[in-house]
Amino acid sequence: LEREEPNYFGAGPALLPTSVLQQAAYDLITYEGDNIGIGEISHRSKPAIKVIDDTKANLTKLYNIPDTHEVFFMQGGGTTGFSSIAYNLFANYAHKTGKKGKAAYAVTGSWSKKSAEEAERLGFDVDIVVNTKSEKYGTIPPYSEWKPIDKDTAYLYVCDNETVHGVEFKDIPGPDYLSEGVELVADMSSNILSKQIDVGKYGLIMAGAQKNIGLAGLTIYIIKKSLLEQASDETLRQLNIPIVPIAFHYPTVVKNNSAYNTIPIFTCHILKLVTDKLIEQGGVPAIEKINQEKAKILYEALQAYPDLYSLPVTNPKVRSNMNVVFRLPNEELEAKFIKQAGEKKLAGLKGHRSVGGMRASIYNAVTLDSVKLLVEFVNDFAKANSA
Ligand code: PLP
Repeated sequence: LEREEPNYFGAGPALLPTSVLQQAAYDLITYEGDNIGIGEISHRSKPAIKVIDDTKANLTKLYNIPDTHEVFFMQGGGTTGFSSIAYNLFANYAHKTGKKGKAAYAVTGSWSKKSAEEAERLGFDVDIVVNTKSEKYGTIPPYSEWKPIDKDTAYLYVCDNETVHGVEFKDIPGPDYLSEGVELVADMSSNILSKQIDVGKYGLIMAGAQKNIGLAGLTIYIIKKSLLEQASDETLRQLNIPIVPIAFHYPTVVKNNSAYNTIPIFTCHILKLVTDKLIEQGGVPAIEKINQEKAKILYEALQAYPDLYSLPVTNPKVRSNMNVVFRLPNEELEAKFIKQAGEKKLAGLKGHRSVGGMRASIYNAVTLDSVKLLVEFVNDFAKANSA
């Protein structure tokens, strides 16, 4: 099975390495010499358990995940993460304190906004500690400007990389902002394994696999083990806290090695193959270096023509290394840019429908060569269309 190497900048689902897909396509038909494929075997069979364990081991290796933390998988994507995080962490807070508590949310773009709204919709007490809507989500203010965290706060929620608006956290809140006992929760759906992080500093990391490291259908959770302790359903009812739906009850999922219900094992296998390849290629430090280079050359090219290209993320310090958003002076020029890019086989550049403009998603699987071709096109287009 062959394909011409795509230059594809779509935001998600996104590109995967061709070699991974070739192997996966083969394994879908016949896995390890058997006449049934990886998607057809029981999720409780030995080979399936091995896929789950190997994937967990790869993630542990790639992120140096300490013993204090546990990796598990669930279905439902990032959106289910929005709900499940609130259910589970409030149940943990009730266990620790006997109180209902509240959660602090940083709203820095459309995904964190959705997550805060979901927690509120489910009946939890949500405190917005920063909201950059009035700045069109073009910056992330320093922590000193955020609203101080109230006592009785279970966790602080951030979206580490806002896929639509293109802002990314470059440092995480330390003890000067985050009071003791408040857990840091991060949605890393669009930048998981793109850069080095200190997992020990997080209470919980959640990431849909389908952008940077896999296919849709599987969501990665990395949780501090102490957060798996929860108040009983009876206590939760007494405290008027919603009880956790069983398929998304973290302690149950962890106790069953991510196979309490049917895990999409083919999707997990893809994640295993992607992480195998990442390890082979030098791990997270190596891919981070390439990702930084890709983002640097692309932002530099765009900034070289300020009359033509504009960057909605006005604060350069928080520009995303994964989702580069940019605009042209009018929609006609934007349509022309996308059409002519398509003619050069540079695909997937249209911005999210809610914001328009352009977005180049340069996730791990997008090569430096692909980004160089895009940079060349950015330059050529500017020369042909500048006044
Ligand atoms: N969080 C982020 C940062 C995202 O980019 C997305 C989807 O694009 C989501 C959450 C929602 O993910 P899903 O579509 O898997 O529910």
